[in-house]
Amino acid sequence: MRSTMQDVPLAISQLLDHGSTVHGAQRVFSASPSGITETTFAEIGANAARLAHALAGLGIAPDDRVATFMWNSARHLEAYYGIPSMGCVVHPLNIRLPGDQIAYIANHAGDRAVIADASLLPLLTPLLDQLATVEHLIVDGADEATLAALRERPRPAGRPGLAVHDLDALLAGRPATYDWPELDERDAAAICYTSGTTGEPKGVAYSHRSIYLHALGTSVVDVLRMSAVDRLLCVVPQFHVLAWGVPYGALLTGAELVMPGSRLAPGPLAEVITATRPTKAVGVPTIWAGLLEYVQANGTDISCMTEAVVGGAACPPALFDAYDRLGVTLVHGWGMTETSPMGTVSRPPAGLSAEETRRYRLSQGRLAGPVQARLIGPDGTRLPWDGTSAGELEVRGPWITGGYLGDESGREHAGSFHDGWLRTGDVGTITPDGFLTLTDRSKDVIKSGGEWISSVELENHLMSHPAVLEAAVIGVADERWGERPLACVVVREGVTVDFAALRDYLDGRVARWQRPERWVAIPEVPKTSVGKFDKKRLRAAYANGELKPRLLIG
Ligand code: ADP
Repeated sequence: MRSTMQDVPLAISQLLDHGSTVHGAQRVFSASPSGITETTFAEIGANAARLAHALAGLGIAPDDRVATFMWNSARHLEAYYGIPSMGCVVHPLNIRLPGDQIAYIANHAGDRAVIADASLLPLLTPLLDQLATVEHLIVDGADEATLAALRERPRPAGRPGLAVHDLDALLAGRPATYDWPELDERDAAAICYTSGTTGEPKGVAYSHRSIYLHALGTSVVDVLRMSAVDRLLCVVPQFHVLAWGVPYGALLTGAELVMPGSRLAPGPLAEVITATRPTKAVGVPTIWAGLLEYVQANGTDISCMTEAVVGGAACPPALFDAYDRLGVTLVHGWGMTETSPMGTVSRPPAGLSAEETRRYRLSQGRLAGPVQARLIGPDGTRLPWDGTSAGELEVRGPWITGGYLGDESGREHAGSFHDGWLRTGDVGTITPDGFLTLTDRSKDVIKSGGEWISSVELENHLMSHPAVLEAAVIGVADERWGERPLACVVVREGVTVDFAALRDYLDGRVARWQRPERWVAIPEVPKTSVGKFDKKRLRAAYANGELKPRLLIG
């Protein structure tokens, strides 16, 4: 029997129409070095329509990819809505990747136009000759001389001509409404690439349906808790898994947004917080670690924020505790580019002891409703959700990718999928009530004499030592054990600590055989383009002799 329900395709234009009318007076605060501007959701709606008219006027047609090369801002939000609503695909490029990778990704996606912040032109201009498919460069905030210089640049032979436009001029005089087409909800609306922490970047195309369902599913109470009484500081870049879907949840729920633009260093970020008083926030652990140092040193009051959802990498327990003392609750979440990204968020059940509550909080969290999960052991068998059996996490659901861009046959990335489930490459346990605890990434876990050592666990313990600012642990070849941990430690300024003391500190915290015997002091842990510990670079530094560990025997 068929249902009697209407079959209305889920579309980003609906989120836009809803947010720009029902929540029309809500605001987006966009920070830049010259100050903070306010844009209402109603204005976002009007400008998204103007942008769609402008792009259509340039001959940009349904299915065309339009890239952005921008900081988080209201302008970027207009692109997030206008481009997919007209039937095109928005592709936020990661401004922090090496130039060759940016060009590779833009070419791989086949971007026809790029909308760029003028302040980012120094990064983009040197790449323009490598962009094989881009025909239009639309710049926000450039002066006439800059635009003229860009127009005069010769194009390499064989490339399409590159028309250079000023965004404001392009939008001026355009109608503030657009008759959004009814689209197939399964069509692509947006593209993101993985940040390549463990391998080459891979592209994922989100559909209108997946983004809409993700917005619905993550706004709810036990996930991001977004509502019209909130103001959410979105530190996660819009090029990092669509800023975790927050921009779409905002127009759905009416939550106001604070977009920090380039003001991401701890000092400027603290200023943005003081000026805009957000109630909530989202960001990766390194952002919160940097802000903490600044806030503690300067006595900045950030207690306007009740909570910050932290994910993208394991959040060290010491950071949870430090923020508790500031009155800000960190909420752990896990996700991937491939999972839109919300997979789990850690909101402990009621009625538990303080110690149990803490344990729940430190886990990666409870599975979001539509995300199905299973654990697969090293021998390929399915493991129980008993909180102790550790296996590779596999997931499936309406906002999980079923393949990668440019690999329609599925052959190139066959190893990433298993009977229609996504293999996450993350290793962990799940409790009977659906809380995931990750022990490591399968590429980072240290295989010592047939046993596994969790690099993350060692790092978390080391970073709870008062003398340690950062610690990253990598597996290095060992004649006897196959692999052993190498601890790379950043010691706080003005403090001295010897490695033997740090190793002793691990006694009772991890099994004795898991304690590293190789130690090295480094000035800073290298970070990836989205602020994760870059262990690929540490491994390379070790391989070419740049890291010279000390060996602690006995
Ligand atoms: P990349 O794989 O290039 O880093 P993603 O941003 O998609 O790009 O990263 C997803 C991965 O980040 C996950 O597979 C997992 O290993 C890691 N991750 C995300 N959130 C957490 C978390 N809360 N704890 C531990 N690891 C996490």
